[in-house]
Amino acid sequence: MKKKLWLSPPHMNGEELKYIHEAFESNWVAPLGPNVDGFEKEMCAYLGTGHAAAVVSGTAAIHLALIILDVSEGDEVLCQSFTFSGSANPIAYQQAAPVFIDSETDSWNIDPQLLEQAIKDRINKGKKPKALILVHLYGQPAKLDEITQICNQYEIPIIEDAAEALGSLYKNIPVGTFGRFGILSFNGNKIITTSGGGMLISSEKNIKEARFLSTQAQDEAPHYQHSQIGYNYRMSNIIAGIGRGQLKSLDKRVERKREIFDYYKEELKQLPGVQSQPELPNTKSNRWLTTLTIDPTLAGTDREKIRLSFVAENIDTRPLWKPMHLQPVFKDAIKYENGVSEKLFNNGLCLPSGTAMTEADLNRVVKIFKSNF
Ligand SMILES: *Cc1c(COP(=O)(O)O)cnc(C)c1O
Repeated sequence: MKKKLWLSPPHMNGEELKYIHEAFESNWVAPLGPNVDGFEKEMCAYLGTGHAAAVVSGTAAIHLALIILDVSEGDEVLCQSFTFSGSANPIAYQQAAPVFIDSETDSWNIDPQLLEQAIKDRINKGKKPKALILVHLYGQPAKLDEITQICNQYEIPIIEDAAEALGSLYKNIPVGTFGRFGILSFNGNKIITTSGGGMLISSEKNIKEARFLSTQAQDEAPHYQHSQIGYNYRMSNIIAGIGRGQLKSLDKRVERKREIFDYYKEELKQLPGVQSQPELPNTKSNRWLTTLTIDPTLAGTDREKIRLSFVAENIDTRPLWKPMHLQPVFKDAIKYENGVSEKLFNNGLCLPSGTAMTEADLNRVVKIFKSNF
């Protein structure tokens, strides 16, 4: 069997173990402790923001944001359709209705014009959306100025799903800090990982509320007392130790991801019909995954044939995310589509982009890719 190449496997740097040892030695083996506090503080310093709550997953962070925004049964929540299901599932946890919005071709993220059309239409139909879940897909920041302006005009709070975009910049400011809420993920395949985990970024008041809700909503009392439903969503002190170690490598990881992207782009640029994800002016993508599209009318081959050629070589590649409005589970959801994300899904491919890849690994991927042409 040939050496397996994964899409974006965990990449430990050695610093993580120190924090885990500290947790063991001090017996802070619990969903609280110095690593949890330290990870939150260090992430805030990295992002240049004030307040964050470490939780068990990015999905949990989105769920908490929706609860704090008082999203409940029957409410509508706008959501980028071109994303992973973790962005949208929490809407259903709250018995609310997702309203999926398609993408634009410049960034592959939500189309601001379609967003405004959708907001007007929902308001005309008598229901103002409670929030927008905006995604910076594959690390590429969305059109934040345009989207913020629209959402401010209609007073709709933004939850920025930066699960894939930690380390990405919009006008030199880290994404995840623009919306009323920002969320991060440290799942196994993300740019830094804690095996699983997430973080919520918001104001001091909201983060206080998030910490309360994520520890079973315990009222202040000597006994256990609860006046509302809580969740067991707080991050463990062991897991947070991995995060503190990983965070030290984040800037290096962004540079390496960008190098990997540039290498593929340079090597594949002669091939007809092959195009990589664009980068908007004034933004810096962390290039979490190198993603490209293959236009079958120009390429003489297609995405699926290329994907299968990698399967045969024990290399993990993936189609781009299947839009939420095309998912069986959301087949009855309200949607505003323009065909962009469906086309990206049909023609798009993610290439192995692990930061521990060697030049030989990269070369192997390029050779197989080219052999299809
Ligand atoms: C990974 C991811 C999530 C969910 O994060 P988890 O930590 O896996 O729950 C949400 N949105 C997007 C866009 C993601 O890629």
